[in-house]
Amino acid sequence: MLPSACTELGITLDLLAGRPLAAFDEAESLICACRNNEGRECLLTPETAEAWRAMTSAAARQGISLYIVSAYRSIARQAELIRSKLEAGHTITDILAILAPPGFSEHHTGRAIDIGAPDCPAADPMFAETPAYAWLQGRADEFGFTLSYPRDNSQGYVFEPWHWCYRR
Ligand SMILES: [Zn+2]
Repeated sequence: MLPSACTELGITLDLLAGRPLAAFDEAESLICACRNNEGRECLLTPETAEAWRAMTSAAARQGISLYIVSAYRSIARQAELIRSKLEAGHTITDILAILAPPGFSEHHTGRAIDIGAPDCPAADPMFAETPAYAWLQGRADEFGFTLSYPRDNSQGYVFEPWHWCYRR
């Protein structure tokens, strides 16, 4: 059974066949970790925010700047993003390669962060070529962050070098 937020967008079980997607619970407590470049509050669970602070400090000591492009996003907001892409003429199949169905995104857990780096557009494949990404590959694990969607991931998403999730 898919949540009604999915069926309302025309997302069917057939569309997700072969993709082992997990449904996640929405975050229970969130704090503001910082503001992003657009001045919007970046919300994370308290543990994730603490781990993020520790990780960015360690990175900064090695001359690497990491910042938050996007953090918590509600299930309702996820549905809105999909709806606006549908309205812009994208097919649901194309959309679901880059956006999780509502209820299945790590972003509403408050533990996922889309990470940005200087001189790299937000959520761009170029992120994989940045010193920030190289640093994360070597050190993020120490702070509890792992890459959710590597190349050729079984969940059927595009490679998202910028999307890291705190799993401790
Ligand atoms: Zn993400």
